[in-house]
Amino acid sequence: MTTAPAIPFMHLTPGADAGAIRDAIDRVIARGWFILGPELAAFEAEFASASGAAHAVGVGTGTDAIALALRALGIGPGDEVITAPLSAAYSALAIMMAGATPVFADIDLDRLTLDPSQVDAAVTPRTVAILPVHLYGQPADMTTIQAIATRHNLVIVEDACQAHLAMSEGRPVGTIGAAGAFSFYPTKNLGALGDAGAIITNDAALAEKLKRLRNGGQTDRYHHVEFGVNTRLDDMQAAILRARLPLLPGWTTRRREIAGRYRAALAGAPVIVPPERDPGHVYHLFPVRSARRAQAQAHLRRLGIETLIHYPVPIPRQPALAGAPAAVCPNADQVCGDVFSLPLHPALTDAEVDRVADAVHRFSAADADGR
Ligand SMILES: *Cc1c(COP(=O)(O)O)cnc(C)c1O
Repeated sequence: MTTAPAIPFMHLTPGADAGAIRDAIDRVIARGWFILGPELAAFEAEFASASGAAHAVGVGTGTDAIALALRALGIGPGDEVITAPLSAAYSALAIMMAGATPVFADIDLDRLTLDPSQVDAAVTPRTVAILPVHLYGQPADMTTIQAIATRHNLVIVEDACQAHLAMSEGRPVGTIGAAGAFSFYPTKNLGALGDAGAIITNDAALAEKLKRLRNGGQTDRYHHVEFGVNTRLDDMQAAILRARLPLLPGWTTRRREIAGRYRAALAGAPVIVPPERDPGHVYHLFPVRSARRAQAQAHLRRLGIETLIHYPVPIPRQPALAGAPAAVCPNADQVCGDVFSLPLHPALTDAEVDRVADAVHRFSAADADGR
């Protein structure tokens, strides 16, 4: 028998937003319009505005958002897209869904996102795009990545699936490249009560193409002018996301507060706390690193604190990626071997943060005792 941890990693049940979510669900049921209806159009306008973009296009998942953005930009078979080896594997799977080839450049050990110099070294005559991942909510080094993209004439699509409302040197993520992909998987900073995703862009023609591609390539009903897929953000999830979107700025502030509290409280603790390299970091996760990760996690588990690993396997080492060009990413290998995430969500209290930090401090002693 297992008992629920005293401090679980996540908190997915609606809280202060529960009433608004119920109202949203009732509204959609009463209307009886479930696909490509008014909730989707309204959410797209509201999410675009919140994200600092001219357009948003709702799709079924964050993975589809990446794949469709690449396809809409004309990227497909024979094309190479450079991306990060440390991410949810979906970043690379989406490149493969577009028919293109993922090429991995190693991460920077400080920022844990794409190392621009490694990106530069990975460019070949087949490279057409870069897919940086704003991992854990921290923007990748976009200024340097943009300079490389310009030099080699490459398109940028941003994987912002963990970075809602994040800012890269003052610029909204997702608007720096040609398009930005977001996920509203329930655990994300803005989560649906199911699967959902969106692409943002400032390019009106690209937004129109994305709206066709997500809907079977149709212009009018039953007129399929190009090879589209079926991946629409449904009106129920759009309505739920609309109920939650107004709370996202407050949640983001709270995430940053918790991260600040962790940073102060973990000074001198026996873990590496990766630095914050951009004040636009939105802390989807709070990763720490330990050479004795398994023991550290077991110690915290005994104290009722749940932790998770993001991510245990570098993407190029996944069997699913066996067809991709060989990748040498020692930094990603190292981080996948020692990183784990402490609980961080807006409902976490200061007392809980302190309790987690205190437990981390007590790790060395407990471990040495063999307890
Ligand atoms: C969640 C996530 C995805 C995939 O989003 P889904 O909505 O689950 O398809 C892609 N990339 C990153 C970095 C993610 O965190």
